[in-house]
Amino acid sequence: METVGKVGTITYTLSRLRRCKNITVRVLGNGEVRVSAPFREPVISVERVIRANQKKLENTIAIQKQEHELYGHTWKDGDTFLFHGKAHTLSMKPGLWDTLALEDGVFAITYVGKPPTKETLSYALKELYRESARKRIDPLVRTWAERLNLDVPPLTIRDSKKRWGSCSSRGNLNFSLRSASLSDEDLSYLVLHEMAHLVHFDHGPLFHAFLTKHLPSWKEHQQKIFSLQRRADLTP
Ligand SMILES: [Zn+2]
Repeated sequence: METVGKVGTITYTLSRLRRCKNITVRVLGNGEVRVSAPFREPVISVERVIRANQKKLENTIAIQKQEHELYGHTWKDGDTFLFHGKAHTLSMKPGLWDTLALEDGVFAITYVGKPPTKETLSYALKELYRESARKRIDPLVRTWAERLNLDVPPLTIRDSKKRWGSCSSRGNLNFSLRSASLSDEDLSYLVLHEMAHLVHFDHGPLFHAFLTKHLPSWKEHQQKIFSLQRRADLTP
């Protein structure tokens, strides 16, 4: 059961769930506010929770809405995605087959019948990103292994949303398929960063000195990658 309410400027959708024990307030990526509450919880106590967090919620909503306008995907014709360091435009046309082709700066899609859903598009793009990440990261790992005088470590491409890359205690490197959105320079830094963990496991001063020695401009790349977190999101 869903109802819509308003506290000050905050419009919220309330879902009452039988198994729910607490009142939970969430701000979605597009700025919508969702509240879940136990089945018999009175509206007044739900609104009390919202009021108690009003300033914080309003701030979060404003930030989310702004980011969504700038970077949120519509998954429709004309939407743009960051790939290989450049904005790529989604072009969708009816056709004889379901196809996805990568042309210069364009993800060209043809479809039979109805246009594909955002879930289908997300799945197809993720496969494209996965393949590209693998193709681009493989040689970078080999190049850095040679420069750093290390063995070539095993590597896996994953669909991780938060982390761009990681290095396990066993020396396996993992990269997010989203890393295909990075430019060659930023991707090279990401690979160096994970490989540096084969030498220094934490982010201590020795780790940073190691990065500086091999890539003096590493901080710029790191900041760039942080700033792209949202734009590289492929979640439908
Ligand atoms: Zn690290």
